[in-house]
Amino acid sequence: MEVGESQRLPSGIPGSLPELQWRKIHARGVPSRWSMSLATMPNRNLSTDELKRANELLADIRTRLPNLAAGDPLLLFAYRRKVVKELGYDERGKPGTRGKLKALKWGQQNGKCAQCGKELELKYSELDRKNAADGYTIESTELVHAKCHQERQAAKGYT
Ligand SMILES: [Zn+2]
Repeated sequence: MEVGESQRLPSGIPGSLPELQWRKIHARGVPSRWSMSLATMPNRNLSTDELKRANELLADIRTRLPNLAAGDPLLLFAYRRKVVKELGYDERGKPGTRGKLKALKWGQQNGKCAQCGKELELKYSELDRKNAADGYTIESTELVHAKCHQERQAAKGYT
């Protein structure tokens, strides 16, 4: 399980963790000097115009889904869930692909956490992206403990 999937999401807000992280960063405005000093870049924010376009797209989708479901609440749920899942894959890749990457990184890191250097159990390890927009690749990720991942995210202002 990735960091955050176990965290409680605000009710009524479907979305992946990175989306929620982005909201928090955006709400805080300029990242602190300390987080800017990390090797990673803050996630790109949307400009006012871009945000407006994104909200228009979202409003369009939110209008079309109930039309598609034609008053069937269970069908609406299924359609919304499908769209959320597929958009999540677009951003994060499919779980099977991430699983293979984790195994590869675990071998490269000799079974050690990239954050604290201690032994890392593959089953409970998590991939940390240096820059979220780069996705999950060999170059853009490091394998870390869940706790170390949370500490890194806290340092970046993601908590
Ligand atoms: Zn660690």
